[in-house]
Amino acid sequence: MLLMLRPKGASVAASQVRSLVKRLLATETASTPAEEHYDIIIGGGGMVGTTLAAALSKNRTLADKKVLLLEAAPEFKGFSASAPFHNRVSAISQSSIELFKAIDCWTHIEKARCKPVKQMQVWDANSDALIHFQHDNFASDVACIIENNLIIDAAYARIRDAAPNYKVLNKARIQCVSLPGKSGEHNTRVQLQDGRSFSCDLLIGADGANSVVRKQMGVDVLAFNYDRMSLVANVDLNIEEGCDNSVAWQRFLPSGPVALLPLSDKQSSLVWSTTVPHARQLLAMQPSEFVDALNEAFCRQYPRLEVADKALQALNAFFGHQGSQHQRQYPPRVCGVQERTRATFPLGFLHASSYVCNGAALVGDAAHRIHPLAGQGVNLGFGDVRELVDTLAAGAYAGFKLGDSQHLIKYERKSLARNVPIMIGVHGLHSLYSTQLSPVVLLRSLGLQLTENLPPIKKLFMKSAMG
Ligand SMILES: Cc1cc2nc3c(=O)[nH]c(=O)nc-3n(C[C@H](O)[C@H](O)[C@H](O)COP(=O)(O)OP(=O)(O)OC[C@H]3O[C@@H](n4cnc5c(N)ncnc54)[C@H](O)[C@@H]3O)c2cc1C
Repeated sequence: MLLMLRPKGASVAASQVRSLVKRLLATETASTPAEEHYDIIIGGGGMVGTTLAAALSKNRTLADKKVLLLEAAPEFKGFSASAPFHNRVSAISQSSIELFKAIDCWTHIEKARCKPVKQMQVWDANSDALIHFQHDNFASDVACIIENNLIIDAAYARIRDAAPNYKVLNKARIQCVSLPGKSGEHNTRVQLQDGRSFSCDLLIGADGANSVVRKQMGVDVLAFNYDRMSLVANVDLNIEEGCDNSVAWQRFLPSGPVALLPLSDKQSSLVWSTTVPHARQLLAMQPSEFVDALNEAFCRQYPRLEVADKALQALNAFFGHQGSQHQRQYPPRVCGVQERTRATFPLGFLHASSYVCNGAALVGDAAHRIHPLAGQGVNLGFGDVRELVDTLAAGAYAGFKLGDSQHLIKYERKSLARNVPIMIGVHGLHSLYSTQLSPVVLLRSLGLQLTENLPPIKKLFMKSAMG
């Protein structure tokens, strides 16, 4: 046979050729044009990912970085202030508004539409306990209600300003991530579902509660479902001409909180957190039946705990009030529900044990997810954006590599210190108000009323709750 006749040196030469071809192929894959390199890749273009891109572009130390935003959804269609209100809105805290101002997004939002909340009333269905929020002499708003799409629109306007350094890819779902060190590489590599791949110094996971980035980082999470859903809808209010709709209302029912957040003079956004079967029932109701159920939720008398009512009377008498400091008021009657705005969302808790590793970091719901009862979820995410951009800028100034975990850990420490107490507090509130056990009703009623009656504690509570 021919092979048997071949001299010994020829087989050595063939293996050398094979290994040369292999090496050439490997080099070609590494420098294939599909694998562009970026300083930073942001995975996920929700409210937090887009705001992060806008904030990076506005930071003087980081403005020249090459940034890629990967978003799984098709291209964002933009926001129109003449269209009906979108059904996904958020109560945005003062500190988030400060962030929007700092990154030139606030004028864009204010010019379009947003509704300041001047006061807020929160009350218990099982007792007379109530708390009322407003800044001294209305010096500033309690929060601002903004459509989620408008926040994204404002951030995209800043990202467009930063082109060509900033690029957005839509229909770009991250499938897997390879972190530096794991395969002897120095960079993080990101592969999309459609086969495209990129490398970067730092990958930031802003890809929401089911974050692929977090899973690939191998971070432990504490996560559970509340077996509750939030039903959202935009509702029409029966408000007299000339009256201002600027109060946010939240009543804790035995099945969960029901809240109305002002959108305009005549419309509010509803967030009704309840059991899963009840949420499905509300979703399927005829509009008139739904409106009746909603009005009843705000007014219905629930079984009361006499001992709690007596204790509250004693407490109020001690503080020199006949009733509570602020008399309980009832929200305006709902007279209609906007078509196709009813939608439900499952509720859960999630917290990642770590927000960073070499070559990657997490922000927003990818790192933490909470119950919407305190309107804090995306505000925590915007807090992450502020901390991460500051940390990256300080690191770049000091000569650290963007993905260096020794420096990124500073972001993690600051964010954990801010996020964990709020997450524990919000989860605690959910647990406290999910029961009708008499001692718990008594304790929570006294706690709420004491907070209402002690201005320094109330101010502290407002500061941490509203930023
Ligand atoms: C009913 C309800 C009411 C709420 N109200 C408030 C409120 O009043 N105030 C408040 O502060 N918070 C509120 N929240 C919480 C808030 O909505 C969330 O915290 C916020 O949406 C999280 O934003 P995010 O950008 O981190 O994540 P997401 O909004 O989940 O965005 C993640 C993005 O990543 C993309 N993505 C996902 N996977 C991939 C992938 N593999 N590759 C590429 N892209 C990917 C998604 O398409 C999406 O665009 C509420 C939540 C609910 C459910």
